[in-house]
Amino acid sequence: MNRPNETVPFVNLPKQFASLKEEIDARLDKIFEKTDFILGSEVQQFEAAFAAYCGAKHCVTLNSGTAALHLSMLACGIGPGDEVITVANTFIATAEGISFAGAEPRFVDCDEATYNMDVSQLEKAISPRTKAIVPVHLYGQPVDMDPIVRLAQERGLKVIEDACQAHGARYKQRLVGSISDIACFSFYPGKNLGAAGDGGAVVTNDDDLAQTIRLIRDHGSSRKYEHQIIGHNFRLDTVQAAVLNVKLPHLNRWNELRRQKAEYYNKQFSKIPGVQVPRVAPDRQSVFHLYVLRVTDRARLIEALKAANIQFGIHYPTPIHLQPAYQFLGLLQGSFPVSEKLSEEIVSLPMFAELTQEEQDRVIETIARCMTELHSGSAVTRAPYPGIVGQLS
Ligand SMILES: *Cc1c(COP(=O)(O)O)cnc(C)c1O
Repeated sequence: MNRPNETVPFVNLPKQFASLKEEIDARLDKIFEKTDFILGSEVQQFEAAFAAYCGAKHCVTLNSGTAALHLSMLACGIGPGDEVITVANTFIATAEGISFAGAEPRFVDCDEATYNMDVSQLEKAISPRTKAIVPVHLYGQPVDMDPIVRLAQERGLKVIEDACQAHGARYKQRLVGSISDIACFSFYPGKNLGAAGDGGAVVTNDDDLAQTIRLIRDHGSSRKYEHQIIGHNFRLDTVQAAVLNVKLPHLNRWNELRRQKAEYYNKQFSKIPGVQVPRVAPDRQSVFHLYVLRVTDRARLIEALKAANIQFGIHYPTPIHLQPAYQFLGLLQGSFPVSEKLSEEIVSLPMFAELTQEEQDRVIETIARCMTELHSGSAVTRAPYPGIVGQLS
């Protein structure tokens, strides 16, 4: 029961871990007895299970989603002098993966309906140096993949999915991870499938890509002290694999609960002025890693959420091209207007499988009160969001 001034958390990991404690403890005890901490049997077990879950041939686990992006680039032969196209409104790691391979990110804007990569801008972003496209399934909704895969095939480019927010999401019935050349996942604790620390993986149907990444993650070695290529130490800990093995069987149920909670938010917010609920294209199924509202006066809404002890997030407050780290690209304010505008109007609300109806009602009531006050006396009953096209469900 959530009382009036109790905190409504953004995520509630203690609650999730409490429900799995016995099973996790039992597995951890076994690992400590065997001390197979590095590439132990839990790692192989998880790789087989997650590949099967995604409907793909291979899963290679790594120590983060960032490493998954970085090694995907290397395995695709991407390096200095190459360009890789991605979207401006993403987490910094998408661009870091490209940069750490020695390549240069080229950005496109997102679209106003789904907040995902605007696929219509890809063609003009391609140059003779372009080697790959990295669509980001932002907030858990898959990007429109068919036109991207088609364009990549025509131009001889690789497609590397950033699926770090989209474990279990579907595009036209297909699970992300089996659609493109290779898909990158993160198991950061707050992700839909999260470890008890950092973790990541790539999923692919390509034998060579899987084999190369397997080599690089472990010092370029497939036999002890024999090093075929110069690699890294990017392995997933056995302990993390054990936690993931316990959690994976619950992922579909957790994702379904997230969808139900998103639907409840959508229904309640549809009566409130000045808020735009997230829209999911009819051929896609989101896993709502984040539930992101677009609002007319974010500063006021944030004050109201803080006053009511409701945690929230902003994903993300600064598009990548305006980050200090990427100033060297010379991209100015105005380069990607949709991403820039969204970054000032979005707010992510509490969203996780264990979120209670009382907690959701507190969030809804707080936002309803704030937005109704803001819009009282105004003739506008719904915020005008220009440029939104297409019939989305
Ligand atoms: C979390 C995340 C990553 C990076 O994952 P880490 O495991 O934290 O390195 C990359 N891209 C996106 C879109 C993410 O949300």
